[in-house]
Amino acid sequence: MSTAIKLKSTTSENSLFALCERLFPICRSITGNGVRQTLSILQEYIDLQVHEVKSGEKVLDWTVPKEWNIREAWIKNSKGEKIIDFADNNLHLLNYSIPVHGKIDLASLKDHLYTLPEQPDLIPYRTSYYKENWGFCLTHNQYQQLEEDTYEVYIDSTLEPGHLTYGELYIPGERQEEILFSAHICHPSLANDNLSGVSVLTHLARYLLTRRNRFSYRFVFIPGTIGSITWLAKNQSKLKNIRGGLVASLLGDAGDFTYKKSRRGTSEMDFVVQYVFTKLGVPFKLQNFIPYGYDERQFCAPAFNLPIGNLTRSQFGTYPEYHTSGDNLQLIRPEYLEGALEVYREVVHTFEHNVFYKNLYPQGEPQLGKRGLYEAIGGNSEAKQLQMAMLWILNYSDGEHSLMHIAKLSGLKYRIIEQAGKLLEEKRVIEKI
Ligand code: ZN
Repeated sequence: MSTAIKLKSTTSENSLFALCERLFPICRSITGNGVRQTLSILQEYIDLQVHEVKSGEKVLDWTVPKEWNIREAWIKNSKGEKIIDFADNNLHLLNYSIPVHGKIDLASLKDHLYTLPEQPDLIPYRTSYYKENWGFCLTHNQYQQLEEDTYEVYIDSTLEPGHLTYGELYIPGERQEEILFSAHICHPSLANDNLSGVSVLTHLARYLLTRRNRFSYRFVFIPGTIGSITWLAKNQSKLKNIRGGLVASLLGDAGDFTYKKSRRGTSEMDFVVQYVFTKLGVPFKLQNFIPYGYDERQFCAPAFNLPIGNLTRSQFGTYPEYHTSGDNLQLIRPEYLEGALEVYREVVHTFEHNVFYKNLYPQGEPQLGKRGLYEAIGGNSEAKQLQMAMLWILNYSDGEHSLMHIAKLSGLKYRIIEQAGKLLEEKRVIEKI
């Protein structure tokens, strides 16, 4: 009986949603203690290595910024009443605001206020990382109630030389070739963007840690843009091992899955993800690479051109709560997070078992008849397709094309391609790489 209770509590504590709930209140940014606190919670789940990179360090064309920390921020009216308070919602503060304390009239204050007139009940999420500024974000309804007055503004923040912090977990497999998964950890109290991605990857890593894997896996939890730039700058020697990867974000909402392909468009990952969607029977949208979005922009920069895509539910900027206080714990649901984890696990499983063959007779077509391969397919109603599948496999089994890729090129069902591959392998015309 006690075991059952223990198991149940472990399950709920470890659930994808529970992790989002724990992380939600923390005010994160691209640097600072919010990121450290987040990573230290993740360390309770997986053995993350935490890296600290000094402010001022050159990373590719960028420089690691000063570290930002925030303790308190509010606006009071002349009666001393707090009308906006960071303690109520950390989105109220323009993220990376410099310290300020002083009196200000309404007109000057308005230069530092951000609202969403089209969505008057929601607080926008705004940042000013690379230009020193201060400001507050509020609902447009709150904004319209502001009267002529002398306001006291207080922001108890620091923006000083420190570090950029990120987390990394490497799970060695039989091969040095690795799959890279990344999620950004720089957003404050926003759930879908991107605690959903953080939680799905944390649980995916836990799953992989319990298995023997053919490939090695690397998980990076990094601040958006500057984090991937920093990671890339420091890990260029490892890039040759990256066989595929995914940037995980927006995985807890009700939207259909969206896969944004790698810049290459025909990498193994691009085929694997499409195959998984079809296999699981989930509705999905496909998008070709565009140089806008999340950290896949950096991973797919022309000099790297890594085979890394972005696998989300709703895509960035396409749901009304995106980058507002509406992206909260009510927007995401446990079952959507679980469904996303299932897709990610299936991607890993498929990648682990994806087959590449080498044609042992690449000079001309090998003679199929003398090997009994025509007879093997003789009475089959799918004989013609199977024969075509053999020709496709023979021609494209050059080490570059997986069976999944060949299925896509040929327009034949994967099942048929797989069957043809087995027949050719049995007759030693091709062999697995
Ligand atoms: Zn975002």
